[in-house]
Amino acid sequence: MLEGLLAVALGAVALALALLWRQSRRNERLASRLQAANSQIGELRGRDPLTGVLARPELESALDDAVAASDRGAAPLALLYVALDGFRPVNEGFGLRVGDAVLRETALRLLRQADDRQLVARIGGDEFVLLLAADAGQAQERAQALVQAMRRPFEFEGQSLALTASVGVAVYPAHGSRPRLLAHSALAMRAVKLGGGDGHAAFDPAMAVDAREQIQLLQDLRRAVARRELRLVYQPKIDARTLQVTAAEALLRWQHPQRGVVSPAVFIPLAERHGLIHELGGWVIEGACRQAAAWRQQGLRMRVAVNLSAQQLRHEDLVPQIEAALARHRMRAERLTCEITETVAMEDTAVTRAAFERLRRAGVHVSIDDFGTGHSSLATLRRLPAAELKIDRAFVVDLDSPGQAGTQALTIVQAIVQMAHTLGLRVVAEGVETPTQRDRLVALGVDELQGYLFARPMSARALGLWAEVDGQDGGGSAAHAAFRASLFEPTAPAQLGD
Ligand code: C2E
Ligand code: MG
Ligand code: MG
Repeated sequence: MLEGLLAVALGAVALALALLWRQSRRNERLASRLQAANSQIGELRGRDPLTGVLARPELESALDDAVAASDRGAAPLALLYVALDGFRPVNEGFGLRVGDAVLRETALRLLRQADDRQLVARIGGDEFVLLLAADAGQAQERAQALVQAMRRPFEFEGQSLALTASVGVAVYPAHGSRPRLLAHSALAMRAVKLGGGDGHAAFDPAMAVDAREQIQLLQDLRRAVARRELRLVYQPKIDARTLQVTAAEALLRWQHPQRGVVSPAVFIPLAERHGLIHELGGWVIEGACRQAAAWRQQGLRMRVAVNLSAQQLRHEDLVPQIEAALARHRMRAERLTCEITETVAMEDTAVTRAAFERLRRAGVHVSIDDFGTGHSSLATLRRLPAAELKIDRAFVVDLDSPGQAGTQALTIVQAIVQMAHTLGLRVVAEGVETPTQRDRLVALGVDELQGYLFARPMSARALGLWAEVDGQDGGGSAAHAAFRASLFEPTAPAQLGD
């Protein structure tokens, strides 16, 4: 009995010892794993986890050190602010995995251009900074080399993606004191982006002045609607075969009390950045619909087109706003064209597709503006319920160019027309200025034309008067007479659903 108990007790002790031993082995393993993880974390601390380059706070301290060294006369210092062009559509169109791979590859290319691996940082989504020991001249050369390195296509899983970069350069101390340096390089990068990207620029004090001026302009813009400083002008679109006016595009003008006319290219982006575009856009939609109703009373039958911004598309209230304006002015939805630029249309596929779908259900005519400048795929286009493509002016201008540029433009326009017609879309060419351009576009099968050759944007009153006068005497050149007279198409008084 005693023996039995002893045996059981011994067995229990042996088991406990074995368990303890295993436990201690496990603890050991755990401890060593913990240590490895700790040192990895230590290495990674201050690193961007995706790319392994410095993170923002470590960049700031690296910059402090570099500025201090430069002050001691050690070396000149340049800061290159690098932002990818067109990264967002890649991320959203191809998915985060491809987006991440692009960012890692970007970091690698920057590391190859760096003097020191410790001086490359990622400071935001697709924005990186490179610190270099370089004076102004050397910094420009290095920026140029970087822009070139970024042009090489990114290859992933058999796909080739072409991206470019905008690089802003700020040199210490010429371009600012330590606290302003990063912001100034970012302003220089922004200037490159505004110019279309794929390039580099050094900081210029005018860029900072511009920023301050913009704040003033923004304050003025907030008051512009109430002060009745905004107005709409209209530019017709002409049917390429019949020369009839098919539509009038509303373009916004701002008559600033001190500055004179401010271009929409300046104030629309400002309104977009600061949340004013929905209000401005609403004003445009209302004005254009009111004008369409007035023209219809006058006997003019044509669509009215408005331009919509990305922010408007994302706004829940856009379609109700459009529908309310249509109802107020007893206008059929199909008489309203909404022009949305290609880059916006392709930018944010999920959100844009939903907005397009709502516009389609509302029955408005959707047009893709500035087509050819973005990176549309046929597949994406097919999913968007658009009715019209407007070929960007850049291709129309090149139709006149001698040599390769001209031939290339011809090929591109031809391809766009074929593709659009296959998808059942009408093709409009914008910015037509010369008879040669017009003839080539007509020969290529473009459906509608718009440009200074036919008419500049003008006031609604001018458009109405011009049509009436012309409808009576048919004056002007033969082509214009035909086109203008057809604008004045007598109809029965306006009725809902005409
Ligand atoms: P867009 O919609 O592509 O309009 C065409 C621009 O080209 C207009 O400039 C027009 O005046 C100009 N244009 C027309 N024909 C010719 C031509 O033969 N030659 C040349 N060189 N230019 C021509 P604008 O009015 O300065 O507008 C610029 C851009 O501003 C527009 O481009 C549009 O994207 C935007 N915009 C204008 N009004 C509005 C608006 O109410 N809302 C929004 N969101 N954007 C607007
Ligand atoms: Mg437009
Ligand atoms: Mg356009």
